[in-house]
Amino acid sequence: MSGGNSNRCPTCRRTVVNLADADTGLPVVADRKPLSKLGEALALVGGCDTFELRWVAGRFELAGRDQFRIRGTPPGSNRVDILVRHDCELAGQWPTMKSQLRDYVAPVEYGDKPPY
Ligand SMILES: [Zn+2]
Repeated sequence: MSGGNSNRCPTCRRTVVNLADADTGLPVVADRKPLSKLGEALALVGGCDTFELRWVAGRFELAGRDQFRIRGTPPGSNRVDILVRHDCELAGQWPTMKSQLRDYVAPVEYGDKPPY
């Protein structure tokens, strides 16, 4: 991830994602590393909120996870990363996995015209 969405927590200096929740519009700070299935299960049991990070219409979109999204789009699903709300004391303890977004975001389409 690049651009203005990725940042460092001013307190613990871990890499975090700053985005508005697509459903509520509220700002969210989440750990950058995607959770594995076990990671999300543990985070939810621990009382942490989880979010889906998608690449939609040329930008990242973050949306809170409810029971339907959790069941319908488990961690590891194509083109979705599951992130946990950042907590300085808990960050880094959840099992994580490789991002599912990299291959999807990488190609840049310039259309018919060359970019110069
Ligand atoms: Zn922190």
